[in-house]
Amino acid sequence: MLPFHLPEISEGEIDSVRSCLQSGWLTTGSFARRFETEFRSFVGCSHAVALNSCTAAAHLALHILDIKEFDEVIIPTMSFAAAAEVVCHLGMRPVLIDCHPVSLNIDIKKIDRAVTPRTKAIIPVHLGGLPCEMDELLEIARFHKLKVIEDAAHAFPAVYRGRIIGSIGDYTCFSFYATKTITTGEGGMLTTDHGECIDRLRRLSLHGIDHRPNDGYSWDYDIVEPGHKYNMPDLAAALGIIQLAKCQRMWEARRRIASMYQKAFQNIQELELPSEPPDVRHAWHLYSIRLRLDRLRLSRNQFIAELRARNIGTSVHFKPLHLHSYYRRTYGYTPQDFPVATAAFDRIVSLPIYSLMTDTDVLQVIEAVNDVVQQYRR
Ligand SMILES: *Cc1c(COP(=O)(O)O)cnc(C)c1O
Repeated sequence: MLPFHLPEISEGEIDSVRSCLQSGWLTTGSFARRFETEFRSFVGCSHAVALNSCTAAAHLALHILDIKEFDEVIIPTMSFAAAAEVVCHLGMRPVLIDCHPVSLNIDIKKIDRAVTPRTKAIIPVHLGGLPCEMDELLEIARFHKLKVIEDAAHAFPAVYRGRIIGSIGDYTCFSFYATKTITTGEGGMLTTDHGECIDRLRRLSLHGIDHRPNDGYSWDYDIVEPGHKYNMPDLAAALGIIQLAKCQRMWEARRRIASMYQKAFQNIQELELPSEPPDVRHAWHLYSIRLRLDRLRLSRNQFIAELRARNIGTSVHFKPLHLHSYYRRTYGYTPQDFPVATAAFDRIVSLPIYSLMTDTDVLQVIEAVNDVVQQYRR
């Protein structure tokens, strides 16, 4: 069985974690600070805060906006639970937006009419690692005085018109979850150029505690406000430092796999392939195809089962938020409210794409996909 994802963990990661274990300091300390410094210089942003998840990063970015109950945040429905969930936790309303039919990213044209006097922020998601149209999005945000908090869980490393994702919006949230493009097992990073709020962000990431001495002995500190328990432990950062150092090579490996797929599938009329506009660099966290169901005699779920029968692991990104019971029940969303995302959900399949895949693995996926398409072609 070819798994849908495998992390690339080598001796470097093992040595780094071992030296952290042997140092006697396992929680946030010198490894986390070094990971932040190196991440910051890679992305080219002023500040980076290492956290224990991308969800935590989104929560902190929203926390400091000083939002009030019933305020609204604009979010694409074609995404994962994380960002919308913290919006709910803060007593705000996630205002869902349909996706663009080609990119499947948030449909920029539908943002304007969703803005109300209560709207405080937009959380674009760079789906699969394809950067959103940030110039247009920032223009809308500036016009309505909204903050832009990017969900870049898929977008490391990605580039939009020469700017690295993480250096564009007000705040950018990265994930180092086990399946993401670099991993710390669980982890995240919040980047920003807003220096005025960085002390508060750091404080909020650890119980709202101020002046925390880092020598492990001092007991004197002050709780300034209720915070969260969102710090990244050194044990995780030890992994992250090594993963970061090889992110470029791992990206090149994924890009190569993506171009093998693109070349192999470009003439298959039954498939729609992911797009890569010339002014961006796709992170290729995901390689998601869409089935042309009108040209096939099987459903997406059957397609997945057929690939599984051919020993290929796949996944689906994502079941749109508006189809989940909480969002239907709470906000009265129906499938028809977001026709593009609803229709796309029935057709999307993510194929394996990760640096440990050999050419033989990639060819095995290509052969399996070709085989299923041929067998079920109308
Ligand atoms: C994985 C993921 C997240 C959450 O990341 P965590 O680090 O697990 O909190 C957020 N958004 C998207 C789009 C994701 O895929």
